[in-house]
This record gives sequence, C-alpha cells and structure tokens, in this order.
Amino acid sequence: MGLRRLRVHMAGAVQGVGFRPFVYRLASELDLKGWVLNSGSGLVIEAEGPEDTLEQFLVRLETERPRASVVLAREVSVLEPAGYASFEIRRSDEQEEKTVSLLPDLATCPDCLRELNDPADRRYRYPFTNCTACGPRYTIILDIPYDRPRTTMRDFQMCPDCLREYTDPADRRFHAQPNACPVCGPRVWIETAANPSVTAALPPDRDPIRAAAEALRAGRIVALKGIGGFQLLVDARNEEAVARLRRLKQREEKPFALMAPTLDCIRQCAEVSDAEERLLRSPAAPIVLLRPHENHPLAPNVAQSSPYLGFMLPYSPLHHLLMEECGFPIVATSGNLTDEPIAIGNQEARARLGGIADLFLMHDRPVARPCDDSVARVSRGRESVLRRARGYAPLPVLVRRRLPAVLAVGGHLKNTVAIAVGRQVYLSQHVGDLDTAEARRAFVRAIEDLCRLYRFQPELVACDLHPDYASTHWAQSSGLPVYAVQHHHAHVASCAAENDLEGEYLGVGWDGTGFGLDGSVWGGEFFLVQDGKFERVAHLRPFRLPGGEAAVKEGWRVSASLCFETFGPDAVEKPTLLRMLERGVNSPWSTSVGRLFDAIAALAGVARTNRFEGQAAMQLERAIGRIRTEDCYPLDEKDGVADWRPLIRAVQYDVGKRVSAGLISARFHNTLAAWIVRVARRTGVRQVALSGGVFQNSYLTERAAALLEQAGIRVATHQRVPANDGGLALGQAVIAGQAFSGGF
Ligand code: ZN
Ligand code: ZN
Ligand code: FE
Repeated sequence: MGLRRLRVHMAGAVQGVGFRPFVYRLASELDLKGWVLNSGSGLVIEAEGPEDTLEQFLVRLETERPRASVVLAREVSVLEPAGYASFEIRRSDEQEEKTVSLLPDLATCPDCLRELNDPADRRYRYPFTNCTACGPRYTIILDIPYDRPRTTMRDFQMCPDCLREYTDPADRRFHAQPNACPVCGPRVWIETAANPSVTAALPPDRDPIRAAAEALRAGRIVALKGIGGFQLLVDARNEEAVARLRRLKQREEKPFALMAPTLDCIRQCAEVSDAEERLLRSPAAPIVLLRPHENHPLAPNVAQSSPYLGFMLPYSPLHHLLMEECGFPIVATSGNLTDEPIAIGNQEARARLGGIADLFLMHDRPVARPCDDSVARVSRGRESVLRRARGYAPLPVLVRRRLPAVLAVGGHLKNTVAIAVGRQVYLSQHVGDLDTAEARRAFVRAIEDLCRLYRFQPELVACDLHPDYASTHWAQSSGLPVYAVQHHHAHVASCAAENDLEGEYLGVGWDGTGFGLDGSVWGGEFFLVQDGKFERVAHLRPFRLPGGEAAVKEGWRVSASLCFETFGPDAVEKPTLLRMLERGVNSPWSTSVGRLFDAIAALAGVARTNRFEGQAAMQLERAIGRIRTEDCYPLDEKDGVADWRPLIRAVQYDVGKRVSAGLISARFHNTLAAWIVRVARRTGVRQVALSGGVFQNSYLTERAAALLEQAGIRVATHQRVPANDGGLALGQAVIAGQAFSGGF
C-alpha cells in the first residue's frame, strides 16, 4: 500500500467548534502525520500515511466530527507525501487575509428529502425546501455578509413558523438564509412558450410539476428554472425528442448531460464504481462521466460520439419531485443556444429559450449569477473536475506561496476567471467560450461580481499571451499592469499548483491550440519549469494546418498535411489543398497534439471532422473499447523534436493492412504515453505535471501516469481544477503573482 498525502479543504461551521483538536486526536490515533489549520476560508487538513488508513480517516472525519460542526463543502486532493514527522495543530497564519467564506450550492440533504416525501410535514412536496446543511448559496447571494436581506430571498417575508425555525439556535434551519415554506416562500408554476401569461392552457388546480412530467413523457421540451439558471429537459429515451432539442438548440453532436431519478436507474445505463457513486451523491452533485453499458435504454443521439455518459442525480427538491413523477432518465442540458451563456432570468429565458422549449417550469426565486452544472469524473481513482461551476464555485484553491492581488482573466474557450487573496486563489464558475457578445458580457460580469463579493482590488491583471483573445483585450484595457502568460505554461502551472509541487518539474502541456512564444500554434509541449520560468525541452515536429481555422474543424486537412510531409505531394488528392501546402498559403505552423489526434482519427477512419472541440479525439479514444495492447508506433525524437513521419508511415501501413481502428488508436495512445516517459527520463526530473485539454483523455492520462510511476517518477494530474482551458486562470494567477512578487 503506497504512502499518500491528502489535503482536505472544508467549509461550513468548522471553526470554533472543537474541530482542530478532534482532527488532531483522530490523526494521532491512526498514526497519520501532517497538520490542521484554520485558513481564511475554512479548515485545511493535510494527512499523510498509508492509503487504506487515509480512507478510514476520511470516513471517520465525517462520522465522528464534533456535533456542533456542519461540514458544508469538502474537497479532497491526493498529493505526494511531504515527509511530515508528526501531526500538529498549526497556528493560523497571522498574515492570512480574513476573507468571507462563500459557500457553493449544496444538494438537498437527507433530512430535507424526508420532509419532502412526508405527507404530514408542512413542507410536503414543497420544491424550495432547504436547511442550514443544504440548498442554494452562491447563486442567491447578492452581497456580503451572507444574510437574508442580501440574498435573492430578500423579497420573501418569512411566515411565523419559518421565522421561529430561523431564530431558534436548536433548529436545523437556524440562520438558513434561503429558508422558506409553501406559505411564505417561492412558488413554482408552468407556462407555455406561446402564452407566457401564466398557464392559460392549464387549469389552475393542475400540479405544475406533474404537468411538466407529462409533457416530458409526451416528448416535449421543458425549460426548467433550476439552481444556477435554466435547463432544457427532454425524455432521454425518446430519440425523436432528443433530435428536436439538438436541432433547436443548434447543438448537433456534443453529448447531452443526463439526470436519472435514482442510482439504480443510472446503473441500468452505465457502470458505476464506488468512487463514482460517492461523487454522484456528494453535496456538489456534479455530472459524472461514466462508461455506458453496450445495451443501455437511452436514445443513441444522447451522447453519440462520446465514450461516456454524463449522469447526475437530482440535487434540488424541484428536481427530486420532477424526477419522481417521471421515473425515467432525462436529458438535462444548459438552457442556452450553443456557445451562449446559460439563461437565468424569467424574462430572459422567455426571450432566449421561447423558440426551443414547449413549456416552462418557472419559479420566482431570482438567480443571482449563472452557474452551470459541474462536470467531474473519476480518473486514477481520484475525483477530477472538468467543468467547475455549481457545487464547487467559489471554493478557493490553496497555493504554496502568498500572492499579490492578481486578477487572472483566463483564456478564450471554457473561460473562468480567478482572484488571488494571500494563499487562496478563488476561481469563478465556468463562464464559457467567449465567442459571442452575450458571452463576453457574462465574462465581464463574472469579473466584477468576484471582485465585488470579495472586496477585491486587483494590483495587476494576468492574461493569455494570445493577442486576440477577448480576455486579453479586456486585460489590456483595464488600466492595470498586465502580465501575459504563455498558454501551456499556465496549464502546467495550474496542475502543479493544485498538486502542491515544489521545485523543478516537467510540465507536459498538450491541447488543441495555444499561442506559442514564436507566434505559432503550440500544443505538444514539454517544459522544464522552475521558479515560474520555463524552458521548452521537447515538442512535436511542426506541421502545417492547411486552411487555418478550417483545419481545426476538419481533421482530414491535418492528415493530408502530415501525409504530404511523409509521402510527398502524391499523397494529397485535393489539388487546392496541395497548392496550399506547397506554397504554405493560409497554413500556419503547429505543434499541437490535439491536431495530431484529429489527423490520426481521420486516417484510422474514425472521424474526419470536429463538430465540437475534441470530438474526433473522443471518438478515437472510444474506439479503443476493451482492446489491451502494449504496442507502440515509432516516434523518433532528435534534439527535443519528435518526428511523427515514422508514426504516420506505420499508421498508414496498418490502415492498408485493415488493422482495426481500435487497435490503431490504442497503439497511437501508447506511443504518446511512451514519449512522455522518454522525455521525463532524459531530463532526469523527479516529478511531472500533465495538463491541457488532451489529458481529459482517460486512457492516455492513466497510461502515462502508470508508466511514469513505474519509472519512479511522481505524477501530478488535475483534480479540483480542469485540465482544459477552464484551469488556465489558476496557472496565470500563480505565475503572474510570482513574477510580480519578485518586482517588475
Ligand atoms: Zn437540508
Ligand atoms: Zn414559511
Ligand atoms: Fe489549452
């Protein structure tokens, strides 16, 4: 059993209730080493010991904790051992800024769920039931301190019963800011898109939730106002209904998220491990990526090209009630048109979603800020967040060193922003791609919102090196000092920061696109990183992207480019493409592993195009299926440049031999994993950080990590922060902060 270090970050009523002595006693009893500390944003524990003991520690931390404590949010990271000699209660950092502790939105707790289903309870079937341990938080707060008049519940006057609960320290609704009941709280209703003036078509005594369930059963699209905004729902078994939603939402292929009434229902569709079950049932209640069964009962167009099904369980009373009425799995996707931010206001939803939804399940509790459903998965046996929003935002990440007041504005795709306060970096919820004016407004609002809530005055702004990102433009016009961070440097630094790496490491930054120091498109980079500086020690041999942006959407263009280099002009059939390649017109250079994935997917006959970012790569990973092989293709590296021509030759040979796409894919993945290990060995590093969108690929990540560990090298992979561009802001904050501390 290996030695591990856990870092546990807890928020809630965990300070001043005897929590630290409790942790000390428990850790000592289990002979774990480490420390416990009150930080500005909650309690942080580091515990080091054998893996199975740490497992016990986590369980007992929950079951034996002080009675007065309420743990509302908990995030665990698995770190490499630090070699602690004892367990101690650390003095709180005197310099630590006292930040307000804002909590994420929490899934309905078992107590509230019991009341919801109890006909004798006054909250029987009440869709806004909550208590101190559950309910909306981040999505209702308007300003600090967190108190009812500064939440979107301010217009609801508590009735005498609710007020009694709210003011009674012995009640489990003592100071529960969103406290409400059928007498005094928000209400739910239904309206048709054609007739928003409340339910003209429906008799007034109709139960709106039942009506919504019936509509879903009949194949209609329902827009539901949830916790962090609107969702679009449709029966996940109904292929025609799913197809209609895709058409109207202009989302042709990207997988849809699913919600199931029960865990059993999920198990009928996909494999669920113990760790995945814990994640599904956690207070964050994210969408969890699961491996589908071959013969699942869902419509095939729910997640067609993806190797995964993304499932979540109901997380609000409204969802619980609706799912109970339905009894079948539904699609539950963000209420927006493709590429736009999620709708949160009732009027806004009517205007923006009126052309999509047949029916609106509305309520009158305003949503203070958009918060999509989060996406997570279990990889290497650990939780890993791919989209950080509802249930996670705005919990901070603790970093090694105190940082100056940096505002990091992230990248262009899957944007998030971050602020650094001392050793805490607060990450915003997922904002999204900044392609539309609507999205850019949401981006500016997210910045203003975060700064206002935390009373944060930035001293400098960190952004991407790309001169044309909307986020870069914003930084440049902010009037503050700007520090531009190279894209892949930010990626690997975010991974290193959340995994608490110290000293030199090898950063593997692989993704689709990032602005390189030489102005070309990078994405297959190895950096030796130390003290905030990096040296590019290896990368792919550059290749051309014929058609520029078109080559990002059409992987067959990249495959033509690689074949042109490998076999000569005869390998390119299209004359226009050949001319482009020969003259280098509109064909920028790239070292992107993401694009290499696209090319191999095209050669292997798996996918010729990308309808959404990463689609071809997903399909290529999916093609592996249950194939297990150790085979690799040749990838010759000289002076840090990996020549893919032997690889392309070997792949084409296999294609000619009619080798299955799955086997070609497995060999290709193995080739990349082996390359990582070779570079790590050559550079002699002791630790490696894997980051960038390519590492959302489980097969590659798990294989590379396993091989590195076999070679005695420590591996850091993403856990709390996305490997994709959603994690850039953290890396930017750390790098810019470090540079600024050293003086400009
Ligand atoms: Zn509750
Ligand atoms: Zn009430
Ligand atoms: Fe990236």
